[in-house]
Amino acid sequence: MMNYDVLVVGAGPVGSTFARYMALNGFKVGVLEKKKEIGVPLQCAGLLGKQIKNVNPLPDELIINQVYGAYLHSPSDNELKVSKNEPQAYVLDRVGYDKFLAQLAVDAGADLFLNHRVKDVDIKNGHVYMNKDKREMSAKIIIGADGYNSLISEKVSNKSYKTPKQVQAAQFLVNFKQDLFDTDYVHLHVRAALSPGFLWTIPLSESTARIGLFGNSDYHYLNNILKDFLNHNTIFGEYSILKKYYGMIPVYNSKKKLVNNRCLLLGDAASQVKPTTGGGLIMGFKCAKIAADITSKALDNDNIGNLTDYESEYQNKFRKELSMQRRLQNLFKTLSDSDLDYMFDKLKEKGAEKIISEYGDMDSQSPLVKELIKNGLLFTILPKILSRRILSLWK
Ligand SMILES: Cc1cc2nc3c(=O)[nH]c(=O)nc-3n(C[C@H](O)[C@H](O)[C@H](O)COP(=O)(O)OP(=O)(O)OC[C@H]3O[C@@H](n4cnc5c(N)ncnc54)[C@H](O)[C@@H]3O)c2cc1C
Repeated sequence: MMNYDVLVVGAGPVGSTFARYMALNGFKVGVLEKKKEIGVPLQCAGLLGKQIKNVNPLPDELIINQVYGAYLHSPSDNELKVSKNEPQAYVLDRVGYDKFLAQLAVDAGADLFLNHRVKDVDIKNGHVYMNKDKREMSAKIIIGADGYNSLISEKVSNKSYKTPKQVQAAQFLVNFKQDLFDTDYVHLHVRAALSPGFLWTIPLSESTARIGLFGNSDYHYLNNILKDFLNHNTIFGEYSILKKYYGMIPVYNSKKKLVNNRCLLLGDAASQVKPTTGGGLIMGFKCAKIAADITSKALDNDNIGNLTDYESEYQNKFRKELSMQRRLQNLFKTLSDSDLDYMFDKLKEKGAEKIISEYGDMDSQSPLVKELIKNGLLFTILPKILSRRILSLWK
């Protein structure tokens, strides 16, 4: 039987990043991936905030496009334009990025096993069982980085939070007959029917875009909204759908248990996803670093009891922002289309585009919310009852 210090289940971006850190720290690392090709099929819009550059390597060849701002659209298409002079986000070749991160892990010394679907784990004794020739491997520590539909999460988490709750997401790669897009901007559309999800248009070129959405509905419904959006948008004209993608976005859960015996959870498997945007990469990478530091220490000290520090460090670092985002999201859920239209109208009238441009950040919304409260702007535009709820976010 093959023995490792650490076995990582899932060679997604987060699992590969963790594996790289551990291999660089000198440990014997194995990565088990059920797919035969990393990253395929694509299940991502590939939009990452600028801070990715401080969090994980990102080669220029994998950046399709740099984004300076966004047009935010209300249900009746009232528009807010927010932008900065520097790039705020990057549109990635996400399949290429998953492959790149897996290769970095291999270059650092990790063993990557493709086509190895994990069927079961024994988190007490550190055994992993695969379908491949009924193979078994063992490790001192097992990492569940196996995505939204995590098998390992079933073993680790407390009863009511075994697999992360999730919402559905759909995306089309669309080619338009004529040039339509300013590639410096993405478009985000809010609608009560999708809330707290939203619809996005992320240009890859002047005539090609990833158009997708997430929301608390089934694929059929999301598909219809996307088709409706394409067919009823007067600027689009003729188009062809080159590809359709479907995926799931886990719902962040502050009570989810992430460590049990010799096993810990990372990335989507741990519901480490921003509630407001559904983005999981940057946060997953940050958690991979925390997890690698703590796992290395536990192995050095030969004390797996130390693994629980991962949970507390993760909570200390992210709980406040994530809980605020979740409450903001819940608040948005209560707004009707006409509330949203009214809100956009008033924000524009009161000059909020400037404030949003200055304080808006894809990855952290609390600075913007605080600024809007400070300026009294939210209180002039939202019905009194909602203002009170927002205020309670800071109590
Ligand atoms: C439509 C859509 C758009 C998105 N857009 C963005 C975005 O723009 N920006 C952003 O930051 N995030 C986005 N996300 C979220 C992002 O894709 C995830 O947060 C990210 O992929 C999580 O990485 P991960 O490594 O934790 O999991 P995954 O990427 O899901 O990787 C898990 C890996 O584990 C493997 N695996 C699963 N089970 C087993 C098993 N039993 N045995 C072996 N291997 C297994 C899988 O094959 C997979 O390779 C989007 C998600 C969706 C669905």
